Amino acid sequence: MTLLHIENLQVSYKTLRGEVRILDGVDLDIDKGEIVGVVGESGSGKSTLGHSIVRLLPYNAKLQGKILIEDFDVVKASEKQMYSLRGTSVFMVFQNPLNSLNPVKTVGHQLIETSLIRHQKEGKKVDKDEAYRESISALKDLRLPDPENIMKRYPHQLSGGQIQRIVIAMSMLLKPKILIADEPTSALDVTVQAQVVKLLKQLNSELGVSVIFITHDIALAYAISSRILVLYGGQVMEDGPSEDVIKVPLHPYSQGLISSIPNINKSEGKLKAIPGSPPSFTNLPKGCRFYPRCEKAMDKCREQVPGILYKGNRHLRCFLYE
Ligand code: SF4
Repeated sequence: MTLLHIENLQVSYKTLRGEVRILDGVDLDIDKGEIVGVVGESGSGKSTLGHSIVRLLPYNAKLQGKILIEDFDVVKASEKQMYSLRGTSVFMVFQNPLNSLNPVKTVGHQLIETSLIRHQKEGKKVDKDEAYRESISALKDLRLPDPENIMKRYPHQLSGGQIQRIVIAMSMLLKPKILIADEPTSALDVTVQAQVVKLLKQLNSELGVSVIFITHDIALAYAISSRILVLYGGQVMEDGPSEDVIKVPLHPYSQGLISSIPNINKSEGKLKAIPGSPPSFTNLPKGCRFYPRCEKAMDKCREQVPGILYKGNRHLRCFLYE
């Protein structure tokens, strides 16, 4: 059952140099309980996609196309309707978890407040004691030791890994249908990174939450998701089952991302990288956006923009598969 339907999504910003389009014709469907990894280098439009779903975009942004969460139309909704949607239907975990918490309130205050808000949105009256018990239980579920003590602490007294888990505990209290995790592990060390990935999987399997996992690390996306969407220059380049995309990547950009993963079992000397840099949105190539960096580029790639093609269970934007 499709929970999130995105069709021909276009996001642009009005700037002094004119309108700059960041996302161009993005399509994405997510089923209930599915985990989708959104992958690409910095500046590919991944975070803009996440922010568009919760409609947390700068004042100069223009959103066009369709974003439907069940029957709820995100593009046309009023600000009041969006307020009720955020948290209950869709929750976003940001890269720097410290920014998600209020620095002058204790963790306990913020978790209790979150629990009370959810009950209020559901039309239930719950007292602070019950909200406290729910918060402690969420912290215990996330294997945070000594939760009573953590409730009394301020965010700056905790580590990055503890804070990220507290933000995930908030999402557990709100019980959203979709959780968007925007590079949630990039500021954490590898051990804590593995714990956070495990927690997201746990949320998905135990509560049936659908997860959009945004990352620049295609190997990490493979570890958590059942499907991978590869973004480049604000367009979808490849979309397919994780196993297939990782083992047999079809798009030259996906191939480049995968061949850039270092192999710890081999001494490779110089690490492989895709030559060049991602395009600037103010100066996009005329034809295929990956053309200047593509080893398989043909003459037509310079002049013509490839459309989306369907090849088996994959969506691809590349002339090689016409
Ligand atoms: S359309 Fe051409 S330039 Fe673009 S990825 Fe395919 S082969 Fe490379």
